[in-house]
Amino acid sequence: MNKEIYQIPVNVEEEILRLKKQQNAVILAHFYQDPEIQDIADFIGDSLDLSRKAAQTDADTIVFCGVKFMAEVAKILSPSKKVLIPDLKAGCSLEDSCRAPEFAEFRKKHSSAIAVTYINCSAEIKALSDIIVTSSNAKKIIAQIPADKEIIFAPDQHLGRFIEKETGRKMILWNGSCMVHEQFSEKELVKLIANYPQAKVIAHPECPQNLLSYAHHIGSTSSLLKFTEENQGSEFIVLTEPMIIHQMKLKNPTAKFYDCPFVDKAGCTLCNTCPHMQLNNLEKLYLVLKYGSKSPNGGELNLDEVLRVKAEKPLRKMLEMSV
Ligand code: SF4
Repeated sequence: MNKEIYQIPVNVEEEILRLKKQQNAVILAHFYQDPEIQDIADFIGDSLDLSRKAAQTDADTIVFCGVKFMAEVAKILSPSKKVLIPDLKAGCSLEDSCRAPEFAEFRKKHSSAIAVTYINCSAEIKALSDIIVTSSNAKKIIAQIPADKEIIFAPDQHLGRFIEKETGRKMILWNGSCMVHEQFSEKELVKLIANYPQAKVIAHPECPQNLLSYAHHIGSTSSLLKFTEENQGSEFIVLTEPMIIHQMKLKNPTAKFYDCPFVDKAGCTLCNTCPHMQLNNLEKLYLVLKYGSKSPNGGELNLDEVLRVKAEKPLRKMLEMSV
């Protein structure tokens, strides 16, 4: 970033708030964003919840601090609003593990199956799907699909397996995964459990089965947050992206939280943050509000209208089925 051209003011938070007001914008922050972004946002939450809340506002602009597929969901549900993202390179390993040409082939191979797709995918994959689900509503939606109907589930194999176990329904699983939830070290988890035997293990269902088998509570980000809020003063070992601990601490200040690390190829124990989410920061948030599409990293998220309409259909189907 050329800071000589793109000056960052000392009072960057104040400037963000001033620009937000000037542009009638709303700032959304996913739970996995840096605490300083969460603290300045109008809404903090998971991707669907954020996009739905933004759609209900009269804001002209949505600034989505999260990854690209999340900003796409905001655009799909709010086509008349401008959607900005602080860093257009903020992708997602789960999204990358399922590309449209291969997924179209997969659908052809199982042509009589209904395609139920996790929201963590591109607009192209959504457009090729029948119903979108989140980790909160997947069980409820799958329970409504006739028992004799085959189901394709993409892209997250671990979430798919978890849903299979919960519902007793076999599905044809796509082989994708999230790099963050897949790489928690089981060895480090066992050490944490031994050191803090009173702590409750809480896990997102994007984690593989070997990790989920240690969990006292498994659920979406919102469900994990609710669980920690309901257990005031407890101790928790957290198996999801550790930035969410900021919200957990705000809702349960006397609790203790231990984030589970991962071990890299060199054997170093590292904090398991999402590198895609970490691309966003306050400076880039300021720059995208100030310079829009001319900002050095961020810009406007545009979707082809034909694609947007196709991707909206399975999303609306999910909203109908999850009431
Ligand atoms: S945490 Fe995983 S699913 Fe979420 S954005 Fe990062 S790579 Fe994608």
